[in-house]
Amino acid sequence: MTTTATTTSTSTTAALVVLGTADRLRRADRELLVLAGTVGATHVVVPDVPGDALLGELAAHAVDTVHAPEGGPGDRLTTPVVALAEAAARESGATVLLLAGTPEARDVAARLGVRLDAGVVTDVVALDDDLVATKSVLAGGWTTRCRATSRVLIATVRPNSVDVPADLADATTEGQARTQRPRVRTHALEDTVPAARVVGRAELPASGRPALGEARVVVAGGRGTGGDFGPLEELADVLGGAIGASRAAVDAGWIGPEAQVGQTGHTVSPQLYVSCGISGAIQQRAGMQTAGTIVAVNKDEQAPVFEIADLGIVGDLQKVLPQAVEHLRALRG
Ligand SMILES: Cc1cc2nc3c(=O)[nH]c(=O)nc-3n(C[C@H](O)[C@H](O)[C@H](O)COP(=O)(O)OP(=O)(O)OC[C@H]3O[C@@H](n4cnc5c(N)ncnc54)[C@H](O)[C@@H]3O)c2cc1C
Repeated sequence: MTTTATTTSTSTTAALVVLGTADRLRRADRELLVLAGTVGATHVVVPDVPGDALLGELAAHAVDTVHAPEGGPGDRLTTPVVALAEAAARESGATVLLLAGTPEARDVAARLGVRLDAGVVTDVVALDDDLVATKSVLAGGWTTRCRATSRVLIATVRPNSVDVPADLADATTEGQARTQRPRVRTHALEDTVPAARVVGRAELPASGRPALGEARVVVAGGRGTGGDFGPLEELADVLGGAIGASRAAVDAGWIGPEAQVGQTGHTVSPQLYVSCGISGAIQQRAGMQTAGTIVAVNKDEQAPVFEIADLGIVGDLQKVLPQAVEHLRALRG
């Protein structure tokens, strides 16, 4: 489900977006900023002193103020961001705090909920003007609508839930130059809370594909791949998508746990989910049922995945996927 939002607001309330980056905006960050723009003046929390490129991108989203830690990110996990976001929330008077749908952001949201005495709603897929949040629960089987009874609402938002207008989808330098830079407000934080310390950082090798949690297309494979993800990777690359997997494929050691989709893996909500050789167990559905369009390829016509598929293809994925790739390549010339 996507919610269409406009970037103008006549409200005097403020929204605070807690970003996980001080570098460049990802699509999921832009979705939060678009949603915040529907609430009121947008304040942003970043984990480090922001660079010029980020300030330019935030300017294109009409961000009012950027809150950053005075001494940089430090080497503590979670608690500095919580302290910073708490200070920014109190100073801005924000009534809505928006965070990404990542495990780290949910950790921050929970701690902020306690500090600000605020209601926390996770996995939000839409937020109405009157701050009623929509979320899907019970393995995607039910859609619920809920409202925080507290003054402040904290929401973690599932990626691909908000339409980003084309002119904001990838802010250009030209566009940034025309808009006013946000004010940068640094906060000195006393990090008195004992917490885990970061002892090292390593970059994951780049696959060249989008991150699973944010991808607009996910091609996922299960036990039916027999361990050969080659045809799925070709399809994912033609569609510009990410690779996902069932737990059976992960448990078999065919692919890393970071690719797992489902109850104990990632929850994804892409526009297109291509399920290949996956039976469609309830625990798998829990992580993908809110996808815009579900295409399933399975050689068993009785496979439960066909109950939720928009398009079902009964066949051997090793034959179906190469044909799909060939057809898509031909279409693109
Ligand atoms: C507490 C708990 C948490 C769990 N969490 C998760 C989770 O997060 N994610 C998850 O996925 N599972 C999870 N599971 C496991 C889940 O119950 C299923 O066991 C798992 O999803 C099955 O994976 P699969 O569909 O790949 O394998 P299978 O159920 O074995 O299905 C394989 C499918 O491939 C088809 N197939 C075989 N060969 C081909 C071919 N050549 N071409 C096309 N189709 C073919 C078969 O017809 C079959 O439908 C969890 C289970 C528990 C108990």
